Amino acid sequence: MYVFEDLMKVLKDSNRPYDFDKITEAYRYAEKAHDGQMRQSGEPYITHPIAVAQILVELGMDTETICAGLLHDVVEDTSSTIEEIKKIFGADVALMVDGVTKLTKMQFVTKEEEQMENLRKMLMAMAKDIRVILIKICDRLHNMRTMEYQSARKQKEKALETMEIYAPIAHRLGMQRIKWELEDLSLKYLDPIGYDEIVSKLDAKRQEYEDFMRRTQDQIDQRLNDLNIQHIVYGRMKHPYSIYRKMFNQNKSLDEIFDLFAFRVIVNTVGDCYNVLGVIHDLYKPILGRFKDYIGTPKPNGYQSLHTTVIGADGLPFAVQIRTREMHETA
Ligand code: MN
Repeated sequence: MYVFEDLMKVLKDSNRPYDFDKITEAYRYAEKAHDGQMRQSGEPYITHPIAVAQILVELGMDTETICAGLLHDVVEDTSSTIEEIKKIFGADVALMVDGVTKLTKMQFVTKEEEQMENLRKMLMAMAKDIRVILIKICDRLHNMRTMEYQSARKQKEKALETMEIYAPIAHRLGMQRIKWELEDLSLKYLDPIGYDEIVSKLDAKRQEYEDFMRRTQDQIDQRLNDLNIQHIVYGRMKHPYSIYRKMFNQNKSLDEIFDLFAFRVIVNTVGDCYNVLGVIHDLYKPILGRFKDYIGTPKPNGYQSLHTTVIGADGLPFAVQIRTREMHETA
């Protein structure tokens, strides 16, 4: 069971200047307020706000937001009032708790034509204090992580809402990892068979894929070092939901997905971008028609990068994005 001591450890390990007394006070208040309440899992309710607070710490949020995370359900679910929160923890924390409470009560519609209305509502709340949305996203993430204890109907309902509202907002806020996790958890409930199929295939090849990623990254790294091109290179694997979309929308098998693996190379100058492209095409055979020069011709939103797809060792294809540091920050 996840307890406050675990959260304290994460807070200390972060090495950020947190106000431990204030956070402890928020925890004590929340624990007392939720006393006797249980989660569907049978655990004390307080484990939920603690877990939400931990995700907020991982996102690098400040003391005020951590306190609001611990207190985010007290007004909705207990006899506590915003006035009381304000008196004890200050206006900043109270405004956030109030914002999250209002957002929780908001009814979202999940019909496609009304998507814009949902996003508009969220954006309105965001304009006041973006931290409110961050707390709400962390709240949803923990609820999705523990969704197995809910009824099948609730699972589907929440998964759909998460896919249509929360994941797109996480994406817009640049929280890629949380977006991926929200999508994967949603898929698990929206199409359990499709999800299991992908996850079990990936699991079977995990070792092979990890070796491939490491070898390829080392190879690129080595060659660029030999040529004295200053760079950062790293790779990522597509996550289950993104694979699912390709497999089922484009009717492809796992082996036919060209960008199951992708590497990114970040360099100092535009000239270096084209040099690295040359190096990649020299090391690996490029796939015809997959090269795109978004540096020469940026996307309408200003996005710039070189994209290519090549065939690596063992015939495994992978995508490569090459860009300068500046382009990377813009992206
Ligand atoms: Mn909650």
